[in-house]
Formats: sequence, C-alpha cells, structure tokens
Amino acid sequence: MTSRIATEVRDLLTGLGVSETVFTSGDLVVSSPIDGTEIARVVQTAPDAARTTIGAAAEAFAAWRRVPAPRRGELVRLLGEELRANKDVLGRLVTLEVGKVPSEGLGEVQEMIDICDFAVGLSRQLYGLTIQSERPDHRLTEQWHPAGVVGIISAFNFPVAVWSWNAALALVCGDAILWKPSEKAPLTALATHALFERALARFGDAPAGLSALLIGGRDIGELMVEDARVPVVSATGSTRMGRDVGERVARRFGKAILELGGNNASIVTPSADLDLTLRAVAFGAMGTAGQRCTTLRRLIVHEDLYDVLVPRLARVYETIAVGSPVDSEALVGPLIDAPAFAAMQASLDAARAQGGIVHGGGRVDVNGEGSFYARPALVEMPGQVGPVKEETFAPILYVMKYRDLSDAIAMQNDVPQGLSSSIFGTDIREVEQFLSAAGSDCGIANVNMGPSGAEIGGAFGGEKETGGGRESGSDAWRAYMRRQTNAVNYGRTVPLAQGVKFDVG
Ligand code: NAD
Repeated sequence: MTSRIATEVRDLLTGLGVSETVFTSGDLVVSSPIDGTEIARVVQTAPDAARTTIGAAAEAFAAWRRVPAPRRGELVRLLGEELRANKDVLGRLVTLEVGKVPSEGLGEVQEMIDICDFAVGLSRQLYGLTIQSERPDHRLTEQWHPAGVVGIISAFNFPVAVWSWNAALALVCGDAILWKPSEKAPLTALATHALFERALARFGDAPAGLSALLIGGRDIGELMVEDARVPVVSATGSTRMGRDVGERVARRFGKAILELGGNNASIVTPSADLDLTLRAVAFGAMGTAGQRCTTLRRLIVHEDLYDVLVPRLARVYETIAVGSPVDSEALVGPLIDAPAFAAMQASLDAARAQGGIVHGGGRVDVNGEGSFYARPALVEMPGQVGPVKEETFAPILYVMKYRDLSDAIAMQNDVPQGLSSSIFGTDIREVEQFLSAAGSDCGIANVNMGPSGAEIGGAFGGEKETGGGRESGSDAWRAYMRRQTNAVNYGRTVPLAQGVKFDVG
C-alpha cells in the first residue's frame, strides 16, 4: 500500500517535472524517517553510464569555460529564481525525505537561494593580482581560470544545500558539475536537478552535459573519485569517507575539498548571559535532531555556573517537543534510520560506563516500529573521555566543568575534529583569548551563539579530521579554479630573474 508520504512525494516530484519511472522503477529503496514507510525506488546510474556522463561533462566544460563569467552568472541567477519560486515544494521534500522540521527544510532552500545571489555577484569579481616585477619592462600578474569538472559528493543531512554551495560557485567559475547525492536522499536531488534544468532551458545555450546526477551508493562515488577527468572532488560526509576520498584523489593529483565530521564545543564563561546561552545551546544541540555537522556536542561550563545552568538545561531537555515534522509543531524530528538510533544508544551506554549521568536519550514512540525518534540526551561527564571525543550523529550533549579558561580552551581543542566552536561571555579578555591564535583551533569560532547555523557569506569548513576544506563564501571560490601566473616582457632585452646571466651573444 502506498503511504500518504509516498503519495505526497510523488505529487511534488511529478509537479516539478520528474518522470515517475525514475523514482518508482529502480532498486534504490528510499524510506521516509518520519514513519519508516517506503516512498520511492529510484533508478541508479549504471557504471558505464556514469563514465559516459563524466565524458560529457568534460566536453561541456571545454565550451563552458569560454563563456564570459558574468554570463555564467546569469544561469545561476535563473537557478536562484527557480528556487525562490519553488521554495515551499523543495523545502517540503527535504522534510519528507530526511525528516527536518518545516522551518529547517525551508531554511535549507533559503541557503541555496542565498548562495545563488552570492555567486551571481561573484561572477563579476573573480579577481587576480597585479604584482610588482623585479625586471625592467615586465608585467607580472596572476589570473584564475576554470578548473574543470567538479564532482560533488553530498551527505544526507544537508541533502540539497551542500550541492548548491558547490554548484553555484563552480558554475560561475566556469566548471561543469557532477553530483553524487547521498543514497539516503536521492529524491531531493532529483527535484533540485529538475529546477536546474528549468533554469538551463530559460538560459538557452548552455552546453549539454554541464550538470548531471550520478545516483547510487559508495561505488558510484568511488568511480567519480578515481576518474582523472574530474580534477576537483568536493566531498561532504563522515571522516571515514573523507579519508578514503582524500587519499584516492591525492594519488592521481586531483584536488579534494573535504567537509567532514565535527565534534563542536561551546564554553560558557562566568560573564555569560545565561538566558541567551540557554536558547542558543538548545538550538545548537537539539536542532535538526543533532544531525548537523556543526551540532553542539560538548558544553564546557565554568564551575561557578554549572549548578545554575545545567538543571535549567535539563528541564528544557525533558520538555522539548519531539515528534513528527508533518503532524506536529515539534522542534525535534526523527533520526534518519535505525543505525543512527543504535549508534546513539551505544554512545550513551559508553558514557554511562565512563561515569556519565544521562538525562533523556530514550526512544519516543511517534509513528511505530519503523521510525526512530529519540528524546535528546544531556549527559554530565566527569571528564572528556570515551564517546565524548567521537562524533555520534545524534542529539547528545556532553556537559563538563572547568575552572580556568586556558584549560577549557585546551579541552575544546583536545578532540580529533576541528569544525566549529563558540564561547558565551561578555568579558572581552576572555572572548579575545578564545578567538586568538592560542584559542580555538576550529575553522569556525563564534561568540554568544552556538556553533551551528552558519551564514553563507563566510568560508565554511574545519581543520584536522574535518578535512581542511572551505566552501561557500569569502574566497572559497578559488578552490574551483586554477591559478596561473603570467610574466610579460614588453621590452627588447632578456633580463633574467635573480640577476642570472646567460648571454649567448
Ligand atoms: P557518509 O560519509 O556516510 O556519506 C556521505 C556521502 O559519501 C554519501 O553520498 C556516500 O554515498 C558517499 N561515500 C561514502 N563512502 C564513499 C567513498 N569511499 N567514496 C566515495 N563516496 C563515498 O555521511 P552521512 O552519514 O551521509 O552524513 C553524516 C556525516 O557527514 C557526519 O559525519 C557529518 O558531520 C558530515 N557532514 C559534514 C559537513 C561539513 O560541511 N563538514 C556537512 C554535512 C555533513
């Protein structure tokens, strides 16, 4: 029997022009985490077809790189228009396929719109440098050229926004794009690509094969990762995946942009505004049911505040609404699947074994056996041991005490991951210490807000096992281009750099 979510998904997808055969006649089974019912069977890309698609992208690149960048920006502007017009539909599909609550589903599409706007402006600003030459009558410059085909591998938890961060920049930079979405979220990818195809049709003369989907699991991702016709691979997902992709791409001297796991902490100092802290911590730790790479996972609280803040936080954990994102106003929706719930329980057991006191964390029965909802867990830990140093992709917040800020910063840095971090406080000395070279070692360090919910204007990404990649705003566009240094001699002699003489008469 077709579930009501399957029916709604079918109507939304066909409304966007996606052929029903594509998502009903394949063997990639997709279930909604909302109620565990099967909602689609998507046709996967066969390896040979994937190789042909990569070849077509390489050909499209050869033409697209010659299109002036502001004109390329026009395609991204049209994509932004399609996303604006269909924000509700795509946001709803995000909710149905991965279980995000409605405002987060819509927020994900808003992020796509924002990066399109950013990239359109960028298409007129792909600046190089003019450098002072040491030789007479010479001009030295640096310019940026399109890099080639960019392969995008995305994770289930931001099923469409991560594509847009990469796609919008890559397209204005003159690259062709290939997208291997998460096998847990191919439907939102089909919907997004249908919108992109509308933009392409309105644009008119873009080369065929400029953008394509490769649907499937790890194997099809590996095929793209191994292919030298894809000089840039942008991969978002677990550290395990990134280590594999990074090594394979490096072996063939390609470039990898890696956006991997996080284990993000906030430090609450004695000068913190506690009401603000409480609200920010709640969103940071429980938003998206703890399934953001930037989710707050460790709270390091000054010992003088601990007995005030932690009981207040525990009350929020007890009462926050957990429920279906389509049938309730709940702020916390489902975990993606059974293994995610099992991983959460295993981490809580490991925390207990290390002396942790666990508040919450149990299963909440919302839609029966096939779906996995959990009350977020607040875990008081005696120290930073065991599961606290790992990323468990679930709503678990470990709380620990500190006395000296330097110790708190050392604790915040003492994990393998380095994505995001924050400090709560109004003492400028403490805040600046946290932001200094001797402070947080993460790619993102915030003040008086949680570690999640980044804006697209800044470069996004992290250090250490988070992979070192940067995407989205600032100068992240450079990763999608290749740098070329140009020296031009407009004189009549051949002066050599470093005073070298080589006079052949
Ligand atoms: P995952 O690593 O299981 O899968 C991510 C993607 O990689 C999928 O498309 C998968 O098919 C593909 N893949 C897996 N192994 C591969 C391989 N060897 N070669 C090529 N492709 C491969 O991750 P997930 O469970 O979908 O997502 C959760 C993880 O993603 C968390 O660790 C989270 O922190 C991370 N994440 C990071 C960011 C970031 O920007 N840093 C953003 C979102 C999610």
